Amino acid sequence: MNKNNLISKRNQCRLCDSKNLVMAVPLKPTPVAEKYLSEEELNNDELFCPLDLFMCKDCGHIQLLDIVEPNFLYSDYTYSSGRSKGLVDHFEKYADDICKKYLPSENNLVVDIGSNDGTLLKFFKKQKLRVLGVDPANEIAQKATKEGIETIPKFFDKQLANEIIEKYGKVKIVTANNAFAHMDNLREIMEGIKILMNENSIFVFEISYLLDVIQKVLLGTIFHEHHSYHSIIPLVKFFDKFDMEIIDVSRNNIQGGSLIGVVQFKNGIYKKNDSVTEILQLENENKICEIETFKIFSENLKNTKKNIKELIQNIQNDKKIIAGFGAARSGTTLISQMEIGKSIKYIVDDNQSKQGKYSPGDHILVRPTSHMYENFPDYMIILAWVHSKNIIKDHQKYLNMGGSFIVCFPELKIIKK
Ligand SMILES: [Zn+2]
Repeated sequence: MNKNNLISKRNQCRLCDSKNLVMAVPLKPTPVAEKYLSEEELNNDELFCPLDLFMCKDCGHIQLLDIVEPNFLYSDYTYSSGRSKGLVDHFEKYADDICKKYLPSENNLVVDIGSNDGTLLKFFKKQKLRVLGVDPANEIAQKATKEGIETIPKFFDKQLANEIIEKYGKVKIVTANNAFAHMDNLREIMEGIKILMNENSIFVFEISYLLDVIQKVLLGTIFHEHHSYHSIIPLVKFFDKFDMEIIDVSRNNIQGGSLIGVVQFKNGIYKKNDSVTEILQLENENKICEIETFKIFSENLKNTKKNIKELIQNIQNDKKIIAGFGAARSGTTLISQMEIGKSIKYIVDDNQSKQGKYSPGDHILVRPTSHMYENFPDYMIILAWVHSKNIIKDHQKYLNMGGSFIVCFPELKIIKK
């Protein structure tokens, strides 16, 4: 593995091709967040990649410009949406809502780009629609196919779009959920999506919403798979270039704050609703396309870091033990940006595929959750921040035994019995 070939740098905006890009949020380079290491791998040279966020001065899009080679990034990708009960329920509602609003006919085709384990498509299948997934994570794609959700194990592009319509015909509903934030070449992807569609089709995307990232200081959503940090103002301009329009947006609480947008051809059959105008107004009021907003965000991050480090120093001065909860991708960003790796004795996680491995960068051993009861830490810092509420609810016993949880975002809090 030649490390130099694994990172490339864009010099043009992912949405509008402009070269007018400025640094918006400087962050420390980190290892790829999902690459938990086996004991043997600890000896290898680890790749650290820049994680700075840039703003396009022409369209306002916030994005990473340093790109980790996708085959490396996704080669041992283990994230599986079907594992999270909250996400499964969310996808069920998502599919129901889309079917109620846009009334597809029986056997219409739904294609999900970045379909992961097929969780979303299962719910469209339940609504008697034909479904097809596309996902480059080979193992997950094959498993989905075996379980009845046909999934093409490839990266989506124009060529694949042409193959799909040749074999299956035009698509009624195209969906791309976090994939829409994950893809580097969004313009080419959009050209491919357009090939799948006609004036009767809709394209539905779900994104982690930039306004929530800013307002709730969702540092944990920033990692190398997330190339784009979307808001609606830049996307309206983006879709316009494809002769397409956003006709509906709705916000939800997934991943700390997400947004579902629906897009059609400008001569499409559906009516645009007021939600689009309303959200554009909200984004303007919150100055989402102004660099000043991100200077304030960076300051907030700096303050949080100072407070967390102080708290941890005080705990250590008292000779107390700190462990981490959740070997999630967000944890890698949190630990490395806050520079607290050396203070965390071990991490616990329910996910067996992470247990016995070491966290990227700081090499903290991941243990089963039971370990926190056998090897009692005085403090448990929650790394899987989106699940804070559930973690605390499920581990009242730990609080009863005298332990304390540390929650870092949106505000630093210590939770005791
Ligand atoms: Zn741009």
